[in-house]
Amino acid sequence: MTYQSMPKVEIHHHIEGAAPPKFIASLAREKNIDISRIFDADGNYAYAGFAEFLSTYEAACEPLTGPQEFYRLTKAILEEAAEHGVVYLETFISPDFCGGGDVSAWRDYVAAIEQAATEAERDAGITLRGIATAVRHFGPDNAKASSRCAAETKGDFITGFGMGGAETHLRPRDFAYAYDMAREAGLQLTCHAGEWGGSDMVAETIHDLGVNRIGHGIHVMQDPKLVAEAVEKDIVFEVCPGSNVSLGAVTGWDAHPIAAMRDAGLKVTVSTDDPPFFHTTMTNEFTMLSNTFGWDTADFDALNQTALEAAYCDDETRAKIAKKLGKVT
Ligand SMILES: [Zn+2]
Repeated sequence: MTYQSMPKVEIHHHIEGAAPPKFIASLAREKNIDISRIFDADGNYAYAGFAEFLSTYEAACEPLTGPQEFYRLTKAILEEAAEHGVVYLETFISPDFCGGGDVSAWRDYVAAIEQAATEAERDAGITLRGIATAVRHFGPDNAKASSRCAAETKGDFITGFGMGGAETHLRPRDFAYAYDMAREAGLQLTCHAGEWGGSDMVAETIHDLGVNRIGHGIHVMQDPKLVAEAVEKDIVFEVCPGSNVSLGAVTGWDAHPIAAMRDAGLKVTVSTDDPPFFHTTMTNEFTMLSNTFGWDTADFDALNQTALEAAYCDDETRAKIAKKLGKVT
């Protein structure tokens, strides 16, 4: 069966990383920016390995020069996600790429993205929330600036603070100041960990940053004690199997630990991360989980439920999305 029309909740997704390559290529042409090196002959993003993925990603952000470009980008990605049944999406938005960490510039970007989200909710029935996100390899000072931006715009739309980028750059405690500031502002907290780093990175992220969600976190399985602690603390894992397979964090779908994580009692969810970079969609994620582990509609209902409970939104929004999920037959 195809899972395309099944309603889905997705909570780990990067706004720039979701940019359709055609959209970025045409924007680059419009602005006379030459980033042809990041596309292959078929017009897809081209890179080999995680380091080159990051530099390709940063190059793809070059044509996204202002709030208006992010408005158009948001429209494009929400249209794409809605086609795959996504009814609620949380996307990571980096102040580094939206005004360079300057609060007033960031406000303009957020306003433009939120405007596009409001229109997409009206037109395509998809709800978007934003998680302001630091880029780890840009260092702790940039992370502080990102956190300040997040704190200043905390509200109905910007509801969380997170961190992505090169995971093995420094240790979680080096970013504690940024996380403390975000926590004091009332933002919910997540962080990428245990994708490239080991279970020690997951443990330090939980202990030193006080997050209630972990991006990826697949290497938590190296440490049974940590698994037990994560179960006890209700930590939710934003698992992105297609991303892990595509980047080589695991050797293939068969080798992915998501089923073992779930069997161990961990709260798992499924997301696409950077869909066009990893040639995936939410439909593809569900289909591959079905093909690989035999998961069916009941399993996907449970995944959606876990993601909705862990979503960084208010209860009114949660109830509205729950109704949409309840329509499944
Ligand atoms: Zn990610």
